[in-house]
Amino acid sequence: MPKPIAAFERLGEENAFAVLARASALAAAGRSIVNLGIGQPDFPTPPHIVEAAVKALRDGHHGYTPAPGIQPLREAVAADLLARTGTEVDVDRILIVPGGKVTMFAAILMLGEPGVEILYPDPGFPIYRSMIEFTGARPVPVPIREENEFAFSAAETLSLMTPQTRLVIVNSPANPTGGVTPRAEIEALVTGLAEYPQATVLSDEIYSRILYDRAEHVSLIDYPEISDRLILLDGWSKTYAMTGWRIGYGIWPESLFDSARKLAVNAWSCVGTASQYAGLAALTGPQDAVGEMVSAFDARRRLVVEGLNALPGVSCRMPGGAFYAFPSIRDTGFEAKRLANRLLEEAGVALIGGPDFGILGEGYLRVSYAASETDLREALNRIGQFLAADKR
Ligand code: PLP
Repeated sequence: MPKPIAAFERLGEENAFAVLARASALAAAGRSIVNLGIGQPDFPTPPHIVEAAVKALRDGHHGYTPAPGIQPLREAVAADLLARTGTEVDVDRILIVPGGKVTMFAAILMLGEPGVEILYPDPGFPIYRSMIEFTGARPVPVPIREENEFAFSAAETLSLMTPQTRLVIVNSPANPTGGVTPRAEIEALVTGLAEYPQATVLSDEIYSRILYDRAEHVSLIDYPEISDRLILLDGWSKTYAMTGWRIGYGIWPESLFDSARKLAVNAWSCVGTASQYAGLAALTGPQDAVGEMVSAFDARRRLVVEGLNALPGVSCRMPGGAFYAFPSIRDTGFEAKRLANRLLEEAGVALIGGPDFGILGEGYLRVSYAASETDLREALNRIGQFLAADKR
């Protein structure tokens, strides 16, 4: 019987997909399920973006494209970054990839190996740790604390760095907490990084456009002092409701770009051509739909946080970005994963236990509020009834 190399035994998963599968199976069996598990906008991709993809196919764009992506799309990414951050990025450093995830996959694969350390947020997106372990590098969790409004702490991050630190992964706005790291903290990190010139930074900014109230997105691309060792991850999935189109981008340091490009040539050749034309229309067309989605998420955010805080034993901070609430359920007396499982099986509400995002996620649930207000109210009612019945 064929067996994969040992590294594959260390490869983890994203439990959100397992919960989605279980929720779909229960729904197919006739159960009423409210799904707050998966992290994707519940809006359709804006019609002008869909039309651009259809037109591209009709116009005969069905072949391969250059591995780094079509030139107008790479130029549009550079123009968008310039408009949003004021920073000029060389188009030759932009690699279009099949989803935001692929930039983290490539970065960790490229830099991880036994003997080096990689810092990553805990709780954080589970694929960071999974890929770090795959490469044999040592995963070093950086605690993301509720008392710090789920921002990362520059001081704590720097205190965990050593001469062996090869890569530091940061994520703001963050999954699963919705935390947004303020400018002062980001500047302190950039300053402190001067002491560790051997460390590359992967900044996962996939939620850069989903921000509320006065929260400000500070991109690490704005700091020229680290531009020769910064990998920026962003994409279309969350901003334009395009999770299924599989398109994202990475801005790579010059010294790493060609390795990333070769990985593309070896693995996926290029992103689906229609998706690239859709991505181009998204960046160059009207942005109204983005604002409308964010306003809808904002209203839902308030509804969910208020509703969660009214539940016995539950307390929830107001997140500043993304579309997740990360309530503490410590005072319910439940373990988080057990509560998440029982809420799915018994109350018909799919959400994710905090430990699926790291050890420090114990005591929390992740609630994706990218769902209709009706569904959110129903979920809150069901969770409330379950907790009130005290079925521990
Ligand atoms: N980074 C974070 C923090 C995410 O939450 C996600 C998706 O959930 C991704 C990256 C991956 O995005 P994509 O669907 O574009 O691969």
